Amino acid sequence: MGIRTVAVHSTADNDAMHVRLADEAVCIGPPSAKDSYLNKAAILSAATITGADAIHPGYGFLSENADFASMVEEHGFTFIGPSPDHIRMMGDKITAKLAVKSAGIPCVPGSEGALDTEEAALECAEQIGYPVLIKATAGGGGKGMKVARNADELRESFNLARNEAKSAFGNADCYMEKYLGHPRHIEMQILADNYGNVVHLGERDCSLQRRHQKVLEEAPSPALTAAQRESIGNIASAAIKKLGYRNAGTIEFLFENGEFFFIEMNTRLQVEHPITEAITGIDLVREQIRIAAGAPLGYEQKDVKFQGHAFECRVNAEDSQTFIPSPGRITNYHTPGGLGVRVDSGMYAGYRIPPHYDSMIAKLIVTGNTRAEALMRLRRALGEYVIDGVKTTLPLHNRLTQDQDFVNGDYDIHWLEKFVARSN
Ligand code: ADP
Repeated sequence: MGIRTVAVHSTADNDAMHVRLADEAVCIGPPSAKDSYLNKAAILSAATITGADAIHPGYGFLSENADFASMVEEHGFTFIGPSPDHIRMMGDKITAKLAVKSAGIPCVPGSEGALDTEEAALECAEQIGYPVLIKATAGGGGKGMKVARNADELRESFNLARNEAKSAFGNADCYMEKYLGHPRHIEMQILADNYGNVVHLGERDCSLQRRHQKVLEEAPSPALTAAQRESIGNIASAAIKKLGYRNAGTIEFLFENGEFFFIEMNTRLQVEHPITEAITGIDLVREQIRIAAGAPLGYEQKDVKFQGHAFECRVNAEDSQTFIPSPGRITNYHTPGGLGVRVDSGMYAGYRIPPHYDSMIAKLIVTGNTRAEALMRLRRALGEYVIDGVKTTLPLHNRLTQDQDFVNGDYDIHWLEKFVARSN
């Protein structure tokens, strides 16, 4: 877009590729995230001294922090994302559920709000039926969830869940949902401008998860019919319009026996956004910037065309069997390429992966005209990808993409854990 960019970074990321490639880079603090990437004042100072117009929050750290979004606007910068009010509304899972429900989105059966006492929890579980899931209102990143299969388990885990929520998220509030036995995780990508124009860009299937964290995603979902896609897409778009939401967002659902149930909304760009870009040809970050700059969307739902099939593998610096992080120096690095192959990464030979942050180091995105073609290409690309010096999850992706259930698209949110246990 011809916009000059300023990268911010901690001292641990002095050698990171984004720091080398940006027009300007500003160090905002020491390795500890709370003193750098979560340091709101340091980021605003960096914006001030470089004369920045707008701040893109990425998809970690402060990207769903309503206070940060407010501070950005108060200091005269544009926040590339939704309004602070919408971030706040969706950041609390109870207010989020109430809001989307009133806007016509179906939710997982569960408690109306937070459950304060064990008695209230037991009563609610009797009503919705076991098994149930206790979830932290302020939870995220797959953390703060406990399954209870009967009243004894619920008695055991309810106060534990509250205490854990308090120490992990600073908020003890927990609510309850019916625990679904074999759902898929299906999420709808939404774009909305400041003038009430909303489109959906189809779904992503993110059912392949480990510890409630996504490992490999695909679009479109092999489990949806065109009619189901259209129906949930229209419901999602209508709700977004009703809520007055703007910019990019993702509505996450569990999908079981042909029914969709809302679980949460992400008010930011998501890690797996490239597979949507791959099948729609729409650059989501560019759209986020255009919308934040006040441009109208400029197209309607009927103009959004879905073409082909895409997969994304999250490559983590971790042991592919124990998932223990493996930071350290990359000694040799070779990326796959060719038609339909995209690697989003800042890695290079000689780079030292710092131990301080998330272990995801690359995303491999592969597109084909059909699912079968994309899968062939994905296997070839995985075979060509060389990352030496640290352990990675590439061997897991290699095994996974050879598995017959995966080839058939036949998996739910619990499948990968069983696959990992089986292949260890
Ligand atoms: P987080 O904000 O931590 O990502 P989510 O509410 O998005 O939490 O849930 C993360 C994952 O946990 C889902 O993708 C799904 O695998 C599982 N999960 C969440 N709610 C339920 C439920 N009611 N039944 C079964 N699994 C669930």
